[in-house]
Amino acid sequence: MSFSFDEKCKRTFCPLPWNHSYLNLDGSFHVCCTGQSFGNEIMMNFGEKASIESGYSTIEVMNSDFMKKLRLDMLKGRWSSMCQRCEVTEKNNGVSRRNLEIKTHESKIEEMLESTLEDGTINYPVTSIDYRLGNVCNLQCRMCNPRSSKLWIEDWNKVVPQNEKVSPEVIESLKRYDWIDSEDLIKDFKEKSLHLEHIQFAGGEPLLVPQMSRILELCIESGNSKNIIISYTTNLTHLPKKVLDLWKYFKGVKILASIDAVGDLNHYIRYPSNWDEIDQNLKFIDENYESLNVIECILNTTVGALNVCSLNKIYNYLSTFNFVVKVPNLSNLQFPSYLATTVLPAPLKKLASIQLTQIKMSHIHILPDHQKYLVENINNVIQFMNSYDGYRTEEFQKFKKFQNDFDKLKGLNLLDYCREFEKFI
Ligand code: SF4
Repeated sequence: MSFSFDEKCKRTFCPLPWNHSYLNLDGSFHVCCTGQSFGNEIMMNFGEKASIESGYSTIEVMNSDFMKKLRLDMLKGRWSSMCQRCEVTEKNNGVSRRNLEIKTHESKIEEMLESTLEDGTINYPVTSIDYRLGNVCNLQCRMCNPRSSKLWIEDWNKVVPQNEKVSPEVIESLKRYDWIDSEDLIKDFKEKSLHLEHIQFAGGEPLLVPQMSRILELCIESGNSKNIIISYTTNLTHLPKKVLDLWKYFKGVKILASIDAVGDLNHYIRYPSNWDEIDQNLKFIDENYESLNVIECILNTTVGALNVCSLNKIYNYLSTFNFVVKVPNLSNLQFPSYLATTVLPAPLKKLASIQLTQIKMSHIHILPDHQKYLVENINNVIQFMNSYDGYRTEEFQKFKKFQNDFDKLKGLNLLDYCREFEKFI
């Protein structure tokens, strides 16, 4: 039996379960980062988690019953619950990761389907990997957690609601993610490296992780680096020269800069980032992208209750750049839900909706077709924000308490950064 890319399949098919391997911060394999909060950790046939340490080969993981079922669901037009984020984005008229992956891999889809047996088994190589190399990070962003940043470890239980607190044993385990230093990581990389076309690094802060540089060096030594595009999701606080020197050996480098606001508000949300350093680094990339071999640089803005009313400043700021894309990639902050835009009082939602609609109208014509999704995603932000009234629930109380407790620890004050909350707290 061979599968066809018919109307039913087009509704739910995604290339990632065929060609992609996502290694999460704790060394476990998931389907992709987009569905990570929706239970997409890959389970092996005897109920064991697939992880770097479990010793399964790539073929065994990709052809586990778990992956076979996911692929069959996609081919038969059934949304898997683990792909909820893409499903909701598409229902809100936004452009999902799935939509983008289909565009990127359009010419390979037939081959993927042909490689698929009736029971979902595939004979298709991993061409794309996403490595999250532990929780080394120099920031303690408000929406982050100790699994992604070590700086959160000491403060986590002091500020999160009771049901999110973790035990002392978990705290201890978060202090050392040993798997990053093990040879298993390098073994896993070598096993996948032969057909690689894309490596995504995120963190933690990937530009600070020595294992990231080691993997780049392995690609260069193998002679395959010229076929590989590397992408970073980075807070852009540091551009280490040692890493920049390696980029020229690759097909190109893409940068997704995690920046949520301009100036002091970014420092407040992505604490304790220094705006001047970030601004300098972004300008450095804008001016030197050719010699750095950077082929794309986009701001990746996580939209939550603290920044949705200030997004217009990001668009104004970006208008001064030449190479850096003038429109940010907006993603809704969904977890923790009490930091999401849904908790905002109605007048602030209205203010943000008006601003965003104006931004959409004024920016839709300035982007080439392949980047128009960046503007179209504004719909998704407006619809998500207005999809639920968290202000009238305990969510807004949790929002206030969390900001207040975190501010006390750091000597900050919400109203110094977000005047719009004055009437509401
Ligand atoms: S549909 Fe979305 S969530 Fe599912 S595998 Fe693809 S990108 Fe990930």
